[in-house]
Amino acid sequence: MASENCIFCKIVAGEIPASRVYEDDTCVAFNDLSPQAPTHILIVPRVHIDSMDTAEGGDESTLGHLLLKAAGIARENGFAEDGYRVVINTNSDGGQTVFHLHVHLLGGRQFVFPPG
Ligand code: AMP
Ligand code: ZN
Repeated sequence: MASENCIFCKIVAGEIPASRVYEDDTCVAFNDLSPQAPTHILIVPRVHIDSMDTAEGGDESTLGHLLLKAAGIARENGFAEDGYRVVINTNSDGGQTVFHLHVHLLGGRQFVFPPG
């Protein structure tokens, strides 16, 4: 179910443009507008889920799908073996700014841990 005024619902619906790299019945993946690494892709579910904090049992297969697609996209883009970072920012302290759950897939450089 799309949520009114949600920018990622609008991208899923094709109402605003995005540089799509992958899509299927469950998710859409597109390049982040403000990349934090040589490859920075967002993978979003077609259904609107606010955040990890509101995800429920019924979202289990959707969340698993997002993570497996992140791994697949990393392999297809050739940086899986070198490594990558998967991030799901959640709520204010987690740095979430868009409240449509999304997986950040970052690759192409060395990352530090813990993140800032
Ligand atoms: P977060 O801070 O985890 O909620 O991540 C939101 C991400 O969405 C940020 O990395 C933004 O750069 C990215 N973003 C916001 N609007 C767009 C857009 N229209 N197309 C692509 N990426 C976007
Ligand atoms: Zn949404």
